[in-house]
Amino acid sequence: MNDSQNLGSAQSWHARSRAVRPVGLALINGALKPASSGATFDCVSPIDGRVLAAVAACDTPDIDAAVAAARAAFERRDWADRAPAERKRVLLRFAELVEQATLELALLETLDVGKPIRDSINVDVAATVRCLRWYAEAIDKIYDQVAPTGPGSLALVTREPMGVVGAIVPWNFPMLMAAWKIGPVLAAGNSLVLKPSEKSPLSAIRLGELALAAGLPPGVFNVVPGYGPTAGKALASHMDVDAIAFTGSTATGKAVMQFAAQSNLKRVSLECGGKSPNIVMADYPDLARAARAAAAAIFFNQGEMCSAGSRLLVQESVREPLLQEISRIGRSMAPGDPLDPQTTLGAMVDESQTLRVMDYIAAGRNEGARVALGGERVRQGSGGYYIEPTIFDGVQPQMRIAREEIFGPVLSTLSFRDLDQALHIANDSSYGLAAAIWTRDITTAHRAARALRAGVVYVNCYDAEDITVPFGGFKQSGFGRDKSLHAFDKYTELKTTWIDLA
Ligand code: NAD
Repeated sequence: MNDSQNLGSAQSWHARSRAVRPVGLALINGALKPASSGATFDCVSPIDGRVLAAVAACDTPDIDAAVAAARAAFERRDWADRAPAERKRVLLRFAELVEQATLELALLETLDVGKPIRDSINVDVAATVRCLRWYAEAIDKIYDQVAPTGPGSLALVTREPMGVVGAIVPWNFPMLMAAWKIGPVLAAGNSLVLKPSEKSPLSAIRLGELALAAGLPPGVFNVVPGYGPTAGKALASHMDVDAIAFTGSTATGKAVMQFAAQSNLKRVSLECGGKSPNIVMADYPDLARAARAAAAAIFFNQGEMCSAGSRLLVQESVREPLLQEISRIGRSMAPGDPLDPQTTLGAMVDESQTLRVMDYIAAGRNEGARVALGGERVRQGSGGYYIEPTIFDGVQPQMRIAREEIFGPVLSTLSFRDLDQALHIANDSSYGLAAAIWTRDITTAHRAARALRAGVVYVNCYDAEDITVPFGGFKQSGFGRDKSLHAFDKYTELKTTWIDLA
């Protein structure tokens, strides 16, 4: 569905949204249930501040129940020991049900986090379906190994599911970040306990229901909504969880690692934050193209992107025209109604994230950077949370807006003289998720690609994306990789079996 003509009208989406009654329950052992305490929290739409659902505020007893269900399912082996081709069949059916529910899931996602409906349909749901299909298809095509140990023995190197995997995910791409875990975790034969963000629980619950409907045995995929310091901590600290797959901020990632160390030394993988440099060399011949990509790299998804190109590093001689062009694009992306299929920039996820971004905008001003575009909240009469595309010029490397992850539509522009200085500024960061360089010179491109300390380096593009390639960070952006066959490393144990042939 790429043509906005097919996406309907804002009126039709508003009519649909009035009829939505999202499920706010936990899914444990194949059954929807409230939190054992009966506690709930309000799930508020950032589009207009309306309450979408009262959601189960799960805590330790609910995590205990979900982990027990996941463990029992794993011990029954009715998923783990299914032939890979059979697991593939169920997961393909799951992907099909998700695809059939595209409009319903996209609406939930847009209402819950405020992203434009066109993106929820064309990006979030579409990529979720592709991801689930890809892992389903992969699992019956992977072979184990026979080691070259010599004629006196046979040594097998096999992969086994780990057991119970806990996944803790953020709110910026609620369904897709969950799918990057769900696909490989389930394909490999594990059981899963998924804790969505308290800011975006709705689509995860629906995904759990669809997985059950596809034929996944009860207990294999549990969804436990709740707050981070309660439900999230209980999951990361649980003595019977074998691995925790986390996506979220670096600060929470550090806490999750501590909980794992203080409990049962469960395996930890962390997909954390970023402050990614986007370097434009003066020799790049198509500045308009670089500007379009730079704007998309920071304004797509309201800038709530781990891999956002939030630091624009421009060679001095092209700074002026490049900034003018990015500003022109930014002006054309004024925040709009997320339920209008024409809207390209929607609402921030909630009030606290909005205030956090506005604090950074104030900090940039106070530290002496110049606001070249935007900088204000808009659409306040809607009851929702909206921030204009914002561009800072004259940013210095030591400023907070050059060092800290803002997670909003705020671009920090720094300038440089030559490649060495650009690479120095680019790598002078505690993060290392993504980086980009725009140049026509092949030596510059290769030198930069080697020198940049980031899990993904883009040359003459930004945010190129495919499920076949790993995604994850260097430094405090985390460790372990989502996507691609490498993701199986996080959810499988390697076993060596020696057979004496003497
Ligand atoms: P967050 O760290 O606040 O929350 C992430 C998850 O952790 C949520 O489910 C939350 O409930 C849970 N949590 C919070 N405190 C916890 C605790 N004490 N113990 C256990 N769990 C806890 O992050 P966020 O604001 O939801 O997401 C934004 C962050 O996610 C940004 O830093 C962004 O860069 C990062 N992110 C990274 C990637 C990636 O692939 N590297 C992808 C998307 C988002």
